[in-house]
Amino acid sequence: MAEVRSGLEEKVVEAVRGNRDELLGVTAELVACDTTARGAGEPARDEEKLQGILARRLAALGAEVDLWEPEPTGKGNRHVPDDLDFRGRPQLAARLRGAGGGRSLLLNGHIDAVDVEPRERWASDPFTVVERDGRLYGRGTGDMKGGIAALVVALEALAHTGVRLAGDVVFCTVTDEESSGAGGFAAVAHGVRADAGICAEATGFDAWVACRGTLTPYVTVTGRAGHAEVRQAHWREGGAVNAIEKAIPIVQAAQRLRAEWRDRPDHQHPLLSPGDIVPTIVKGGTWEVTHPETCTVCFDCMYLPGHLDEEGTGKRVEAEIVRAFEAAAGTDPWFDEHPLGYEWRCDVVPAEIPADHPLVTVTLDAGAGLGRPGRAAGLDSWHDAATFTRRGGTPTFSYGGDALATAHTIDEWIAVDDLVDAAAVYALAAMRWCGVA
Ligand SMILES: [Zn+2]
Repeated sequence: MAEVRSGLEEKVVEAVRGNRDELLGVTAELVACDTTARGAGEPARDEEKLQGILARRLAALGAEVDLWEPEPTGKGNRHVPDDLDFRGRPQLAARLRGAGGGRSLLLNGHIDAVDVEPRERWASDPFTVVERDGRLYGRGTGDMKGGIAALVVALEALAHTGVRLAGDVVFCTVTDEESSGAGGFAAVAHGVRADAGICAEATGFDAWVACRGTLTPYVTVTGRAGHAEVRQAHWREGGAVNAIEKAIPIVQAAQRLRAEWRDRPDHQHPLLSPGDIVPTIVKGGTWEVTHPETCTVCFDCMYLPGHLDEEGTGKRVEAEIVRAFEAAAGTDPWFDEHPLGYEWRCDVVPAEIPADHPLVTVTLDAGAGLGRPGRAAGLDSWHDAATFTRRGGTPTFSYGGDALATAHTIDEWIAVDDLVDAAAVYALAAMRWCGVA
């Protein structure tokens, strides 16, 4: 049963609805900033500009604004990419002090968005928000600049209605969610924390309380180059060995792991799919008529919260994958002398919070009261909420409007009504969680 809203809450909802044009305006401003997700070593784009837009709006509400560029990641941290640079790509944490005596609330969003290519296939420019039939089109409208705009409008509606919260609100926007989670990781390392938190991902008004983690092994198979159209001696006599063919048993071993995990008890979770391992990149060969000397296969490997070890890493899953690949290689004497090479990129850890966490309950309840019923659910992929939960000790989930089918697509869109209702829910959840002074 949705809770009946108080008179003050009704005024806040009205204020959010009255700010519809403002919400569209902020979304358009954020989408116009090119913050396409990038890899290590690539230059910054409009991240600083976008964070500046948000910082100014939060400062206008009286927030203490902290805008900082983290140190580069360096080397050897299994949870973030090596040598990732934050120059020109600041993180933002803005604290709105409450009157005191209430619980604090983290409101988070990622400012990066996925690539717009092939750009020519968009019906309209991906960096220019266009409203058609009640939908907002543009890269990031759904994932998740629209959600960030909804957070801003929610806080502005509270302020304009004269609501003073008892607990603090920490508004935090980060980079690098779509790639590695390094921005959220940097925010937690910087000290961003609260009693509980919401990421404004577009969840279809469900609360994503659990997500899977990811390991990304690059496995290199060594062969021996030689003319592909000339008869070759046995490899023991110096003949060529085709690295692409030698990689086949490794890929098949991954397929067997996937089949095994599908039914294995430790891979069953009430809200998440079993773990998975999917070959996603293959690089091998240099010439059309040469047996390839090497072949590297990248696997996207997902695992469950229950697989974390005592240190909070996915090393146990890593070890199982290595055992499976080594067993496959072990049947071929070539590999005795030419062992597999492993490079493990980021270990992006899974997380979950109780489905009946009080902030989840007040949020779903506020949504139901606005005609947007939702439930506690899982995200098979990953979101920054995991980092705040696991590393920052801030139980965090994702909640927002519906862009499940359109995120990351050409002609990405979200319904304007979804953003308006999400903003109203954020405002009500803040009142009920933080308390009103
Ligand atoms: Zn997202």
